[in-house]
Amino acid sequence: MEHTHCLIIGSGPAGFTAAIYTGRADLHPLVYEGMQPGGQLTITTEIENFPGYPEGISGTDMMADLRKQALRFGAEVRTGYIVEADLSARPFHLTDDHGNIIEADTVVIATGASAKWIGLDSEKKFYGQGVSACATCDGYFYKNQEVLVVGGGDTACEEANYLSTLCSKVYLVHRRDELRASKSMQHKVLSNPKIEMLWSSRIHEICGDDLDGVTGVEVEDIKTGSLRHIDLSGVFVAIGHKPNTDFLKGQVELDEQGYIKVNSPHAATNIPGVFAAGDVCDPHYRQAIVAAGKGCTAAMDVERFLQNN
Ligand code: NAP
Repeated sequence: MEHTHCLIIGSGPAGFTAAIYTGRADLHPLVYEGMQPGGQLTITTEIENFPGYPEGISGTDMMADLRKQALRFGAEVRTGYIVEADLSARPFHLTDDHGNIIEADTVVIATGASAKWIGLDSEKKFYGQGVSACATCDGYFYKNQEVLVVGGGDTACEEANYLSTLCSKVYLVHRRDELRASKSMQHKVLSNPKIEMLWSSRIHEICGDDLDGVTGVEVEDIKTGSLRHIDLSGVFVAIGHKPNTDFLKGQVELDEQGYIKVNSPHAATNIPGVFAAGDVCDPHYRQAIVAAGKGCTAAMDVERFLQNN
């Protein structure tokens, strides 16, 4: 059976930062890249808010750099993902998608979260070309343009408000005639003159072409079935995220939404020797720089744990 001092699950900014730090501590971490090598950043547009890149950088380039940096310090980066975890005793036992069992003294879980999507083919087609799940990341590209947000929760309202500071107009499409968001967030949205509510509505189709990306949407009034075409250039889907923790159920303490509970400001979970970092334990910030910082925290916690145990 293969043994490692530190198994890192996930290859977004949290996973690779943990790999860089544990690598530099001579722990020879083993990184499983997961279902989406490089994480969510590889499917975003340009990243302009990560410090150190004055001209911005594409998500794929940034993740390729982080990977290279982790390799430089002795990390082993492996294609594949962990399907099962037995964290009941140390060393821990984790099984990958090929059936290999890894024995690990410590584990850093950095499997991220996945945005929920509406499920239209056109949504997939225009992802990164006008369709986004993160206004903070991509809103800037739609300065002075018309955009649309889908959802009725706090995230959708927050994104609509944020976008209204950049864009000329924001449509907020919600499937019911009442928002789920907190009252204060509702007040902000409903009193914002740049936001137009489209109640009891859903996106029927996202329109566009290969050259310009998204150029408009067909919105359906759920009550009447009538369709309205709106010209716009950005669609932000904000119908929630799902942390990638299915393989951990019953093994580590999760909150009611499935996010891993950590003993903040540390990265410790309820299982000594198991740490978590990034979006898998963060429903609030969901930013690459925050995830990278938490990856560092997790690595330093791993190092201290191994010194004391
Ligand atoms: P959420 O509260 O689960 O809201 C998701 C919204 O998307 C709901 O309005 C839901 O409609 C809609 N929706 C779900 N599936 C859909 C689909 N297939 N098609 C169309 N609409 C769909 O998620 P969230 O807004 O991301 O918030 C998650 C948690 O983080 C919440 O606890 C929230 O309070 C918190 N949060 C807090 C803040 C803050 O305090 N500043 C900011 C962001 C998030 P229905 O309403 O009809 O179900």
